[in-house]
Amino acid sequence: MKSFIYSFLILMSLASLSKAQLISPKNQYTRADTLRGMLSPLRTCYDINYYHLDVKIDIDQKLIGGSNEFVFTATQNFSKLQFDLFSNLKVDKVIYKGEEVPFSREFNAVFINFPKPIKKGTKDKFTVYYSGRPVIANNPPWDGGFIFKKDKNGKPWVSVACQGLGASSWWPNKDHQSDEVDSMLISISIPNGLKEISNGRLRSVQAKPTGYTQYNWFVANPINNYDVTFYIGDYAHWTDNYTGEKGQLSIDYWSLTADSAKARPHWDADVKPMLKCFEHWFGPYPFYEDGYKLVQAPHLGMEHQSAIAYGNEFKKGYLGSDLSGTGWGQKFDFITIHESGHEWFGNNITTKDIADMWVHEAFTTYSEALFVECQYGKKAGTDYVTGIRRNIQNDKPIIGPREVNKEGSGDMYYKGANMIYHIRQLMNDDEKFRSILRGMNKKFYHKTVTGKEIEQYLSQQSGLDLSTVFKQYLYQAAAPVYK
Ligand SMILES: [Zn+2]
Repeated sequence: MKSFIYSFLILMSLASLSKAQLISPKNQYTRADTLRGMLSPLRTCYDINYYHLDVKIDIDQKLIGGSNEFVFTATQNFSKLQFDLFSNLKVDKVIYKGEEVPFSREFNAVFINFPKPIKKGTKDKFTVYYSGRPVIANNPPWDGGFIFKKDKNGKPWVSVACQGLGASSWWPNKDHQSDEVDSMLISISIPNGLKEISNGRLRSVQAKPTGYTQYNWFVANPINNYDVTFYIGDYAHWTDNYTGEKGQLSIDYWSLTADSAKARPHWDADVKPMLKCFEHWFGPYPFYEDGYKLVQAPHLGMEHQSAIAYGNEFKKGYLGSDLSGTGWGQKFDFITIHESGHEWFGNNITTKDIADMWVHEAFTTYSEALFVECQYGKKAGTDYVTGIRRNIQNDKPIIGPREVNKEGSGDMYYKGANMIYHIRQLMNDDEKFRSILRGMNKKFYHKTVTGKEIEQYLSQQSGLDLSTVFKQYLYQAAAPVYK
């Protein structure tokens, strides 16, 4: 995500900023932004290996409560560290080696003081217990938070989307994109009678006291915090299989029971052709161990790893409209294709700082054009990517300010995709271009990167000096000048 409407939201928010703020953007950023966006020694001192998130969701009261276990490796000697949890949620206690340890809070950061220094190289753990009322999204997925809805039959339909806002809006973690766990257990307890879906594979379902059921989902691959999610509702479930480059890939579909008749043929039309096309261009689906899932969500969509959020109302295009104005955008479901493209660009290759979010969105938007090309030929794909140029704003640079958890221009989508297309044209060798896209997903497999690393990779592998291309598309607001 976030895409089309997002551009309008950016323009609206820019309009509301004063002229002085626009002239010196640094003044906009606060101590709270820095605590969230900067990699201070209190964060680099530990490398996260594993989380066990265990949360109960009280739908009636809109309250959550539970714990998260942090298993980490010390990268240096330290006795204090930072984790993150929004200040509207209470830290009930922090337990280390069976004892409560003191902590302090500043904005959305929490600092733990350990009784003895933890030595470099040690693998250790602590557990944070917390509770409270999570942020509720006003306009998901663009502004993040919880979504409490009812389906057509009046049954609860609850989920969360928190890209940008941060996973620390609903669970305690080291909320910086540069550090991903190697694996994670997600335990969500919900009222009996509903179903719950999270990332990864379902390990067990357990009855809990007082009318609750706990679903335990295990993610076997590295996952970024904002991808961790849950979907609660009256869901129907069916499965399929895809024979791909790494063998058998399980496909799980979860739609609301009320929509399953519509969902089956609609999703069938796009999912396997998409997997075939994207594996051809980008290499094997990056999360075979966790499978591929498409889950109907109470918001438009999000790239939740191995559990893609889908809310495009079973329509073609973007809620029925064609972003390219060429007709090709009406031939596929935008959310299925775009959010699945993020499995390679965003989830497999993740940027350390969201200032470089173009790496996620430029390649993923270009993946839409490649899907059109796979299905309808090269000219159709070209028409699509040139068609979406009409959405470019040229309002500000695509790369955002660093270390304050802020994105750059929404042009990272359409202008970013056209930059990738421009590089393909400059190379004039489609097989080599494809080998670069596949090579990226191999070299940076399950890794976090800087935008610069991707720039360097593209220049080195193409054998072209692309510095002017990057400068014009990414670092300045104005439209690039073709020579
Ligand atoms: Zn996206």
